[in-house]
Amino acid sequence: MHYYLVPRKKPNLLSLIIPCYNEEEVLDYLKQRLRETIPKLNVNTEIILVNDGSSDRTILGLMEWAKEDKQVRVISLARNFGHQIAVTAGMDHARGDAVVIMDADLQDPPEVILEMIERYKEGYDVVYGQRLARSGESFFKKITAWAFYRLMKILVHKDLPLDSGDFRLISRRCLDALNGLRENHRFLRGMNAWIGFPQIPVYYNRDPRVAGETKYPLQKMLKLAMNAAVSFSPLPLRFSLGLGIVVALIGFCVGIYALYRAFQHFILQMPIVYNPGWATIVTLICLIGGSILISIGILGEYVARIFEESKGRPLYVIEFMEGGVKKDNQGITSRSRGKKSS
Ligand code: UDP
Ligand code: MG
Repeated sequence: MHYYLVPRKKPNLLSLIIPCYNEEEVLDYLKQRLRETIPKLNVNTEIILVNDGSSDRTILGLMEWAKEDKQVRVISLARNFGHQIAVTAGMDHARGDAVVIMDADLQDPPEVILEMIERYKEGYDVVYGQRLARSGESFFKKITAWAFYRLMKILVHKDLPLDSGDFRLISRRCLDALNGLRENHRFLRGMNAWIGFPQIPVYYNRDPRVAGETKYPLQKMLKLAMNAAVSFSPLPLRFSLGLGIVVALIGFCVGIYALYRAFQHFILQMPIVYNPGWATIVTLICLIGGSILISIGILGEYVARIFEESKGRPLYVIEFMEGGVKKDNQGITSRSRGKKSS
């Protein structure tokens, strides 16, 4: 893919968005590491800490940090809404020309942001962290993550990068477009892939969590996978149509075979073992089963369209316009069919 990249200055303000759910053990390490790293970035930075309804002392730690440090803003959600929504709250309130989304547990090394900013200056709108290695994670976590990313690429979007989480830098124009997608079940990486804009990976090693334990147990991972699959792709809805066609075809073949056996038995009077009624039952089961599944599948096609419409997404996202119209380098979204918006 070739992009028309327009080099730009470093961001006037960079917003770091960090969702925190029961991270009291992690906060001191995070604070320390950011205090070392942020001066090296050489950009104005705001740190948006989103407390996702923690039940431990996280919010106290965050408020204390905000008092010490003028760069820090705290958004505290009324309950635990989940990681994707916590990040969304941060994105909605970010004031920066670029935002970086990262985990609180320092699994996403903040030093990588330096390289992300370089890419941003080259003109890229999305710079996503792609993991080279995962140290300190169980074999089970590694294998499920591996399967997850491959399956999501099929179900969500062909441009969904493999082995990349939410750790990424997003430019203002892309963020504005992303903030325009107000669907309830959010899978941010997929939404980001759907939006487009020039994207590039930076590679990094995913460190082990500095303290505490994962807030993404298997159950939450499955929920995320389900959200990603079901809220992006009508493919699962189409499943019954495919299955129905296969079952109906089997019924058809069995029916032909049964007719052939009946023909041998009754017409040719051949001495074969023939169970009366067998052919009728098997054929009918397959044909009826198949036609029910096909009908559900067709119903699914309609539901799929309702589902697509109900997301209320813009029909397209414009990267920029050149010539004739007023130059506008902001992401523009429109729901009007075929009509240009400016
Ligand atoms: N998180 C959150 N709400 C949740 C679960 C997790 O805000 O309901 C945050 C968590 O505090 C961390 C990030 O999301 O900053 C990633 O979670 P975690 O490190 O536990 O996930 P893992 O890296 O194990 O997949
Ligand atoms: Mg983690």
